[in-house]
Amino acid sequence: MSLLDDVKSRLDIVEVVSGYTSLTPAGRNLKARCPFHSERTPSFVVFPERGSWRCFGACAEGGDAIRFVMKAENQNFAEALRTLADRLGIQAPSRRAQEAMNPLLRANEEVAKFYHKHLVDSEEGADARAYLEKRGVSTETASAFGLGLSPTGWEDMKNHLAGQGFTDAQMLQAGLLHRSEEGRTRDLFHGRLMFPIKDDGGHIVGFGGRELDGGQPKYLNTPQSPLFDKSTILWGMDVASEGIRLKDEAVIVEGYMDALMAHQHGFTNVVASMGTALTNQQVEHLTRLAKSYVLALDADAAGQEATLRSLKSSWKGVDNVRIALLPIGKDPDDLIRQAPDRWPDVIASAESKIDFFFRLLPPRYDLTTTEGQRTLTEELGPLVLDVQDSTEQDRHLERLGELLGVNRHTLEEVLQRQRQSVLRAATAKGQRQRGPDEPPKVQVAAAAFKQDQLEAYSLALLLRDPELKEVAEALQPEFFHESENREVYLKWAECSIIEELRELMDTPLREHLETLVDREFPSMDQKERTEALAHCVRRLEERHLREVRTQIATALSQAIEEGDDPSQVIEELRKQDERLREIHSTRVRRGF
Ligand SMILES: [Zn+2]
Repeated sequence: MSLLDDVKSRLDIVEVVSGYTSLTPAGRNLKARCPFHSERTPSFVVFPERGSWRCFGACAEGGDAIRFVMKAENQNFAEALRTLADRLGIQAPSRRAQEAMNPLLRANEEVAKFYHKHLVDSEEGADARAYLEKRGVSTETASAFGLGLSPTGWEDMKNHLAGQGFTDAQMLQAGLLHRSEEGRTRDLFHGRLMFPIKDDGGHIVGFGGRELDGGQPKYLNTPQSPLFDKSTILWGMDVASEGIRLKDEAVIVEGYMDALMAHQHGFTNVVASMGTALTNQQVEHLTRLAKSYVLALDADAAGQEATLRSLKSSWKGVDNVRIALLPIGKDPDDLIRQAPDRWPDVIASAESKIDFFFRLLPPRYDLTTTEGQRTLTEELGPLVLDVQDSTEQDRHLERLGELLGVNRHTLEEVLQRQRQSVLRAATAKGQRQRGPDEPPKVQVAAAAFKQDQLEAYSLALLLRDPELKEVAEALQPEFFHESENREVYLKWAECSIIEELRELMDTPLREHLETLVDREFPSMDQKERTEALAHCVRRLEERHLREVRTQIATALSQAIEEGDDPSQVIEELRKQDERLREIHSTRVRRGF
């Protein structure tokens, strides 16, 4: 079974979405305030039976669970799939045999040496050396972490490795080369300050490259490869694990420079998340090394939101994680360079996860209104119940009660009701009811899962015959309701040559592509293929419009039932009917 099939067979849309917004039962469906745009009245609906969601408000968009995570986490298809697999506790297919890795690891080692020498010795390296000096990085630190510089030329690295007997294919697999539309290969990294990224065993599995001349993007990483899975690695772990064990505490910073500067000043229990929120795998790794954790992350608004999300998801169930309050506008890197003696205080005075929630969330709601009180209870209540230490949990329940002006008993009743209504909605779908003491991430009963035949058949036709591109012009990405099909279609629209298409895709999507390419067909000539596809396109379009119409109609009857203002939904319904009428009249004209 492929990773995609495995994940899809266990996906539960209700569970996925409820990690981001509180769902309220509404008939057979659930509704919520849309997590993607801000709104007062809920216009976001989850359809458990179809495994889909739709925002009837500003977004006017919908999709399946994978699409939801892609949007919510701003991830591509492969990353979103990885996130979901992670949450479901599904292991990625085992890494390839170590023997296959060896040449790639050796290539990386060789490249790291090459980059380092270029930084230290070359004339071109003068600017980079000056930059490091300005940032206060000592030559010892630069050597210890193996920092380097990628030459500005297009093929210097490639030629160097070729001279050592490495093939283009190996360099591509290690993620060191970029391949153009025309199939030409060149170095991926140019004129960047290079940070080798190592796994726990100290093997170099990838690189991060920082621009030095205002180029974009500011940081470029090795793409996901058989060697490099960013979601499992914390930068600097190979040197920090000892320090983390000794202190029984891990400090997590964002950037390479932050971690580098910490180590240079003797704070050896620091690792970098490489700019993204920590995944479950990374958190799990940390919990094996130490009992307490401090996040020293960006303190700006966007950074705080990211921290909030990560605390609610990856750090769920972990009490001993604290958030360091950095002086406004300062990175750990700045702080440690300018005032290293203040760092231990900043770490020691970090606030607990639950205090962070209590500081951030209440000011967002108007607690003089019932609505404000209810929403805060919905958001903060579950977080208080997630506190594992029962004395602490007790204390924070009191605190929430005081904030809301209700007594402890009432609050507990409200939280209990809230929990039950979400559970009821989930069980309506046939999910196993879970008792209040069970962990929330119980494996979901396998949802009925089958490939969408119409979508797969249409794509298989397209992939077989590039001449069909013209017929496919009427196809819209949203006609594909399964994310993997939608993604294959989007990539195909960029580039319809199969060999290049493969290059554009990460592993899970490429596996799906292969199943489409391998599909058996009855033999058809060009004309028959064209007709078959035209027929499919019409059916996909009609199916899409009908499905959306059904969803809108459901939302409308709910709105009326609950006395909400239905005007927005009615407007949506009117537009949709107009589109359906258009199709029918076009068909009559064309004689379909
Ligand atoms: Zn929305």
